[in-house]
Amino acid sequence: MNYLITGANRGLGLSLTEEALKRGHHVYATSRSIKDERLLQLKEQYSDQLVMLSIDVQDESSIEEAVVSLKKNSQYLDVIINNAAILNEREKTIEELDIDACAVAFDINILGAMRIIKHFLPIFHKGPRASILNISSEAASFTNAYAGDYPYGMSKAALNMLSEKLKMYLKDDGVQVLSIHPGWMKTDMGGEKAPFDPDETARMIVDLAERKTEVDSRYSFVNRDGSAMNI
Ligand code: NDP
Repeated sequence: MNYLITGANRGLGLSLTEEALKRGHHVYATSRSIKDERLLQLKEQYSDQLVMLSIDVQDESSIEEAVVSLKKNSQYLDVIINNAAILNEREKTIEELDIDACAVAFDINILGAMRIIKHFLPIFHKGPRASILNISSEAASFTNAYAGDYPYGMSKAALNMLSEKLKMYLKDDGVQVLSIHPGWMKTDMGGEKAPFDPDETARMIVDLAERKTEVDSRYSFVNRDGSAMNI
């Protein structure tokens, strides 16, 4: 299958790229910098399966250029993984927030995913093998709401709504649309104290994409093992 992954140069995005390649999939690994050392190493190892594309999800023209390059080679996608995100304005009270910084988080975490889907959907193979996987967070949950991480939690809640709307939009095509909480992982974002390894989460997410894991949820917001998350 053909995967498109955003933020593929580090953290969960890099683990997802490697896991999909190991399983024989073709991956369009997108990142702001395609000169990243780890991606270049993967390119050497999986030269026939990996294409690196420069995409900044805030820059719509970078997405349009990537679509043009895929169209030129008559390429299509089976799986889109919106993984790129930032976690900023941490632990600030509402009085302390920098609203411009909040706007950047919204621009990346939710509008970025919308830009990707808007432009790649025309070259997406809609069908029972296809998936749109938006990487969300338990910080989006009403049930677990806490007074902090305002732009992050709010933008991920909007991402969950995007997933639900897409699920409705694509319901007759058999496309699987999920908003996945990947667990607290040891990455630049999650920090060293996190209990989970992003490689383990990546295996579970690729299992979901391959439909090896049964999703047990009324809504698209699920845990990495396919179980329902609290809305
Ligand atoms: P990291 O901070 O380690 O990596 C974030 C990735 O997003 C980087 O590749 C970064 O690229 C990319 N990115 C940020 N802004 C942009 C942009 N404008 N355009 C393109 N790429 C961009 O995060 P994680 O790997 O930990 O997180 C992956 C996903 O999992 C995120 O959606 C996150 O919200 C979610 N998540 C993570 C948790 C955790 O514990 N780590 C917990 C719950 C959810 P660059 O190198 O250029 O900055």
